[in-house]
Amino acid sequence: MSVVGRLAPTPSGHLHLGNVTAFAAAWLSVRSAGGRLLLRMEDIDTVRARAYVEDGIREDLRWLGLSWDAEVPRQSVRDYRLAIEALRPHTYRCTCTRAQIKAAGGRYPGTCRDAGHVEGALRLRLPDGPVHFVDRRFGPRDVDPNLFGDPVLVRSDGLVSYNLAVVADDLTDGVTEVVRGADLLDFTAVQLHLWRWLGEREPTWLHAPLVLGPDGAKLSKSHGSTEVRALREAGWDPARVWRTVLPWLGLEPVGAIGDAVARFDAGVGARGPVVVG
Ligand SMILES: [Zn+2]
Repeated sequence: MSVVGRLAPTPSGHLHLGNVTAFAAAWLSVRSAGGRLLLRMEDIDTVRARAYVEDGIREDLRWLGLSWDAEVPRQSVRDYRLAIEALRPHTYRCTCTRAQIKAAGGRYPGTCRDAGHVEGALRLRLPDGPVHFVDRRFGPRDVDPNLFGDPVLVRSDGLVSYNLAVVADDLTDGVTEVVRGADLLDFTAVQLHLWRWLGEREPTWLHAPLVLGPDGAKLSKSHGSTEVRALREAGWDPARVWRTVLPWLGLEPVGAIGDAVARFDAGVGARGPVVVG
């Protein structure tokens, strides 16, 4: 099967160096395999998605040389009813309030598993025990998806969860490799169950190192100076971005992403977080 990867930005904010690191890994992995790379806007949380942010993301990707072969439909126009129906044997309705779950220590204790509710949030009934998978950078992992209890697939107001949307989309889009930031590494355990139940196949997994701000916190809107557009305004060119980011992926600091394709190796580079200087 030929390789299909994707860049899947969330248009709730501009691209920062953490996104760039994960997208560089995704781009290099697909290009080094001669595969096909898709762009998909992950705007399932439509309240926060903004069209001008999406345009800015496309502009930043082009400026960096992170080309894509096709843009597939955004999440907010997709229909997840078939996927939800297919998962019916593995789901149940939950009427617990946020306060009840908080009182249980934040981990959902499965109160409604056998209650037979006909309304409320739709939760996934997770099998017991750890899930085994192999990450191309982090190696073999055994993660218990029950760390937080049965996850919500569809909120009581109808909003589809990220876990469900991302797996259903990747199956629809024919994605064969998932490459993203290490902050999502443990979500893989939940998503693997969805892949098996919905698609009877699994992608390969590669998690790029997490990038932290100078204050040691995960990059967010409060680290505006690490956004690609801020760097550009501060006089950075794409070469300076790549000389900064590529070493985090264990690559020589060449000034163009295309020059790193031949040397790409998913298994090298930082595993622990890297800190923006
Ligand atoms: Zn419940």
